[in-house]
Amino acid sequence: MFVADYVLMEYGTGAIMAVPAHDERDFEFARKHDLPITRVIEGGEELPYTGDGPMVNSGRFDGVHNREAFTQIVEWLESDGKGKPAVNYRLRDWLLSRQRYWGCPIPIVYCEKCGANAVPDDQLPVVLPDVEDYAPKGLSPLATAEDWVSTTCPSCDGPARRETDTMDTFVDSSWYFMRYCDARNDAAPWDREILDGWMPVDQYIGGVEHAILHLMYARFFTKAFADIGLLDAQEPFARLFTQGMVTRDGAKMSKSKGNVVSPRDIVEQHGADTARCYILYVGHPAEGGDWNDKGTEGIARFLARLWRAAVDAAASTEPSDGPTGEPTGVLRKVHWAIDKVTADLGERFATHTAIAAVIELVNELTKHRDELLATPDGASQYRFGAATAGSLIFPFAPHLGSETYELLTGRRVWEEPWPEADPALLETDTVTIVVQLNGKVIDRFDAPAGIADDEQERLARGSERVAERLDGREIVKAIVVPGRLVNLVAR
Ligand SMILES: [Zn+2]
Repeated sequence: MFVADYVLMEYGTGAIMAVPAHDERDFEFARKHDLPITRVIEGGEELPYTGDGPMVNSGRFDGVHNREAFTQIVEWLESDGKGKPAVNYRLRDWLLSRQRYWGCPIPIVYCEKCGANAVPDDQLPVVLPDVEDYAPKGLSPLATAEDWVSTTCPSCDGPARRETDTMDTFVDSSWYFMRYCDARNDAAPWDREILDGWMPVDQYIGGVEHAILHLMYARFFTKAFADIGLLDAQEPFARLFTQGMVTRDGAKMSKSKGNVVSPRDIVEQHGADTARCYILYVGHPAEGGDWNDKGTEGIARFLARLWRAAVDAAASTEPSDGPTGEPTGVLRKVHWAIDKVTADLGERFATHTAIAAVIELVNELTKHRDELLATPDGASQYRFGAATAGSLIFPFAPHLGSETYELLTGRRVWEEPWPEADPALLETDTVTIVVQLNGKVIDRFDAPAGIADDEQERLARGSERVAERLDGREIVKAIVVPGRLVNLVAR
């Protein structure tokens, strides 16, 4: 038996893993103490071998790939009652106090007689005093606010002094989202029932720089709050989305290169909707994209086109409860756009293709304006299309989206349910079926992909060209190649 205090301070309590053939530190340890070194993973010419491979010298696990063996070995130990899998979490030491003005005061007072005392609940929160000078001078900026610092001891009523350090701002960012759920509560940070109704946060969006500290602290706070019975949720965020970086002409934006795009300039030139829409359109948000100044103009023109279509629809059509009449191609396009934006946002978080779908819809509306407005049914579909485009663009261009929607429906888009696509109106893929008569191609028609064989045959038999060429003959046989061809044999 070898006894050691530790080998690596942060590596659990074990000094070594006891796999000298496959771990460099264990290998050195075994060599120094002349211990046997047994290979248990095939691979590499020399030991230690730290790669993957099939197990050897491992009894029942021989031949199993080592990664797969991890699970099998733990299962075997568990079935024998000798062990079980466990995940260990570690939180690095976190220096919580700061000598800064900003940050929450630490609610502790010091008394010469009683020592450190927590400020009683009925005196919380301790509010920051107003100070003239925020700069630290070897002391916390709060230390100079003598009126605030000097107080009375909650235990003996004698003179006491407040703690003058403040809490790290990470303390606030670890649980602010819980307070948001019940922000007007004066009696407590939150009401548990309200919090349980909202938490966890459905979607968290942030930069990758938050992954190691803020997100870890937020999880730690949530688990600790759950353990002391303040909420149900064990995790603060149900879904995490980490956005990529937007470059300009292929280069990272930086002040020193002078290639930084200021959203303010776009807001001043084209408005906030264009700025927001373009940033979400430039690429998949996870990957970022490359900024193009002309692109903002394209988006501004698209938004103007949508607004013109809405104003036009309001002026040339009557308000209606929805589209009427036989569905036109444009109405199918509306439902296609609803389906696409819903799926792109919900499943793939692909804002760029969602916006592209609304652009496509608005182009269709503009293109078919005149023919649609020629009939009352068409007009109702035009109006419905423009209103739906407003509601679909609302998440990206909230001002224009809500104005468009209200103009055409009289309702506020954020009080309405998200639009739903009618599956019956969703375009399906089509295939082209070739019609042959006695082996010669005489016609073609489009049919939905997956069309049934007998339907395919029926449509082929109904072809006008077939009728023209039969010339008194009768179709005696039909050979169907599904989705591709129907050969009619006539005699
Ligand atoms: Zn005291």
